[in-house]
Amino acid sequence: MECDCGKTLELCGVDEVDATTYLARFACVPCGEYVGIEGEQKEVTPFLGQVCWSDEAQHVLDRMPPYVVPFYRDDVERYAQTTGTKLVTFDFLGEAKNQGTVAWSVDTLKRLERVPPAIRAMARIELERTALERGMTEVTVALMEEIKARYFGLGAAQPAFKN
Ligand SMILES: [Zn+2]
Repeated sequence: MECDCGKTLELCGVDEVDATTYLARFACVPCGEYVGIEGEQKEVTPFLGQVCWSDEAQHVLDRMPPYVVPFYRDDVERYAQTTGTKLVTFDFLGEAKNQGTVAWSVDTLKRLERVPPAIRAMARIELERTALERGMTEVTVALMEEIKARYFGLGAAQPAFKN
């Protein structure tokens, strides 16, 4: 992407707007020209050069003891490369800590297949995100019931927090 002056716009940072929306900010400093690209991760990623940290992920880094930062950053970026991830998000840090995505059992996968195709991908992301957030290594039936009730108003009226 180029500025009107012909210079390549520089990436200044990426904000996590919500669970699935990102805002990449670019600038041409000499011109004071700013451009933002907002969209899902897969829409924003093609505009990012190398592995890039969202502001939220960067904030985690900023709060770490300085001597830990280079090692931690290396670990996360190496994991990002093995998974083909260009954008390190707050959630990705949790995933990197587990060195992988959460597991799905045959049971939970079967349940996922019954989710209408239009919302299946979103449901999958939401389930994995919530599981990682809670430090779970596997998506459970209880979690699926909880998310289903919370997001789609189906099933149990009471979210299953017992697990
Ligand atoms: Zn310019």
